[in-house]
Amino acid sequence: MSATLAPTAAPAVQSAQPIQLHRRTPAPMAPGLWSVEAIQALLDKPLMDLLFEAQTVHRQHWPAGDIELATLLSVKTGGCPENCGYCPQAAEFDTGVKAEKLMEVEEVVRAAQAAKDAGATRFCMGAAWRAPKDRDIEKVSALIGAVKGLGLQTCATLGMLESHQAQALKDAGLDYYNHNLDTAPEYYTDVVSTRAYQDRLDTLQNVRNAGISVCCGGIVGMGEAPVHRAGLIEQLANLQPYPESVPINSLVRVPGTPLADSDPIDPFDFVRMIAVARITMPKARVRLSAGRQQMGEAVQALCFMAGANSIFYGDKLLVTGNPDVDADVQLLAKLGLNGHRTTTTEAEHAHHHA
Ligand code: SF4
Repeated sequence: MSATLAPTAAPAVQSAQPIQLHRRTPAPMAPGLWSVEAIQALLDKPLMDLLFEAQTVHRQHWPAGDIELATLLSVKTGGCPENCGYCPQAAEFDTGVKAEKLMEVEEVVRAAQAAKDAGATRFCMGAAWRAPKDRDIEKVSALIGAVKGLGLQTCATLGMLESHQAQALKDAGLDYYNHNLDTAPEYYTDVVSTRAYQDRLDTLQNVRNAGISVCCGGIVGMGEAPVHRAGLIEQLANLQPYPESVPINSLVRVPGTPLADSDPIDPFDFVRMIAVARITMPKARVRLSAGRQQMGEAVQALCFMAGANSIFYGDKLLVTGNPDVDADVQLLAKLGLNGHRTTTTEAEHAHHHA
């Protein structure tokens, strides 16, 4: 992995073995960098201490009660050649998702206009590709230009990018790119075998180099060990700089996917992940992403306490369900939170998987 992207180098580990960590007093290895051990120590704190610390950090960097509402449009659904074990859009899994072609400019513009009319300021297009071809980049560039023409910010999630492709998207007006690390490097091969962790890091570097803002997070509840959760946060927090936007997803177990029978994550452990994302990446938008429908209102409230300040808004996340808009409006009102429709139409729950 590149020196720039993984400056702290987690202790070398074997991928198949659970990793035993010494519980030590958290000690950042260098200013601004995090060790897996330090992150694990945060995750292991008494929950109320962790929540207090996370909310304290949150208030130092963000206005109280401000929640970004994000919506998501799939511009090219299904038929993906990758085999991400959580994803209903992989062609090789029998999930009932039909492969579709890239949407036409007019259709996308209609959806973007509707999002703008609903108050959106940002619009994201997700496509189920392993890696776009150059002619796909041309087509998506046309979509970006059209959406930009409506006065919206743009973001996209299209799979792996080469540097000239990232540059072409930047030139077309792309503001954000979503590309998730999914889990820790040590658990990655249990989730996906059609690409390597380094591929993800390379794309993220290409996106950064092109001057596009980064949206990057992961998924929990995929059967990973606690240390893998710490390892995911370590990778994210040590990106230089860390992502502007960090979606944390709880696996939506879709029948037909290899991870459909994973044990669900304990809801308090999910809250802990949000808290630790907030503490280690204080200025990032921490997005409560896939899996919210299963969480219930009280757990969502704890996530907001832990520093989540963005949610997906709208009744669908590409191909899985999400709480409906009325339920979200009511929940935010009950909690006294201000959902503002700067509606990032972002594909920030795992790379267009949910
Ligand atoms: S997460 Fe993305 S890359 Fe992986 S199978 Fe689904 S659509 Fe393809």
